[in-house]
Amino acid sequence: MSTPSILILPGDGIGPEVMAEVRKIIDWFRANRALAFDVGEDLVGGAAYDAHGVPLADATMEKAQEVDAVLLGAVGGPKYDELDFQLKPERGLLRLRKEMDLFANLRPAQCFDALAEFSSLKADVVGGLDIMIVRELTSGVYFGEPRGIVKEGNERVGINTQRYTESEIARVARSAFELARKRSGQVCSMEKANVMESGVLWREVVTEVHAAEYSDVELSHMYADAGAMQLTRWPKQFDVIVTDNLFGDLLSDLAAMLTGSLGMLPSASLGAQMENGRPKALYEPVHGSAPDIAGQGKANPIACILSFAMALRYSFDKGDEATRLEQAAEAVLADGLRTPDLMGPEGGSPVSTSEMGDAVIAKLSASL
Ligand code: NAD
Repeated sequence: MSTPSILILPGDGIGPEVMAEVRKIIDWFRANRALAFDVGEDLVGGAAYDAHGVPLADATMEKAQEVDAVLLGAVGGPKYDELDFQLKPERGLLRLRKEMDLFANLRPAQCFDALAEFSSLKADVVGGLDIMIVRELTSGVYFGEPRGIVKEGNERVGINTQRYTESEIARVARSAFELARKRSGQVCSMEKANVMESGVLWREVVTEVHAAEYSDVELSHMYADAGAMQLTRWPKQFDVIVTDNLFGDLLSDLAAMLTGSLGMLPSASLGAQMENGRPKALYEPVHGSAPDIAGQGKANPIACILSFAMALRYSFDKGDEATRLEQAAEAVLADGLRTPDLMGPEGGSPVSTSEMGDAVIAKLSASL
């Protein structure tokens, strides 16, 4: 079998800083766990615009289509704010998502015990929390036609259309059921079938896919507004949640913030299976390029490191190694190491981006 391949796109702002720590971790796995990756690197976002005049060069897009996984840092920054819409750094990321057809966005909400005090909820409600929101990413009301702002009589009307085909619902449902099989075997599907026809169809199709292919997984349904309430009341009742683009946007942000800092949150976006059986995949931290702290060694690299752990699990079928990496990050936090974003009001002495990365590697080595 050929060596698994990764394309690294560090991007802008703190992207290259946090990605440098992931590079070290990839090297550690090669040296210590005989896990070799064929690693390439290229430009995206403002960095690509500076070099090529576009936020994603065609050659980079081609490479992204060929590799087993893309790891992206972050894009954007004030320097590019005045550019035409099509040239903005974020367009590079959107092009990747669109052309790779990454329809399932996986957003874990995981609370490390050492950080439970950072949550806005009580520590016993969030301590040990580990849920996964699967958001449909390429259809629904953000893409449906007709859309626009039109004139009707004397006033303007804003229009967006919620539209889902059966196949769009079925493929994201399958992603959620597959994930549940690798976790604790439960899926909760959320929509608004009480008031939306697209929600009625969503519920029907998820139920059909479940009955035909995944009856070993436990399936429940919930209206998305009730789901939001339940997520804040007792989030540990959930394992995998599958929902549409709009509700997923809101629910995944809500669930993620139950657990503390933006610098801790990884994500994966998965598409259809390639010939080698691996899904098309892009892994990235949830945070942006953080221009306010870029270049100062203050960025928390854990979101990016945990995104690589997701790549190990979902692209390379190395769940044990992913767990090893997640436990190393957790152990570092349990020892009290904190980048500035994780400092409480009582203060203390924060560690730098590279010190945090080195500490994770030291824990990895200790785990051997
Ligand atoms: P941001 O996520 O970059 O920053 C928000 C706040 O969180 C800032 O105070 C920042 O310092 C802090 N923060 C973020 N990540 C951190 C980390 N790893 N460690 C420590 N602190 C961290 O969001 P923003 O300020 O709204 O956007 C800045 C730029 O990033 C904009 O150009 C925006 O368009 C872009 N952006 C890109 C992505 C992406 O690449 N996926 C996502 C969101 C925003």
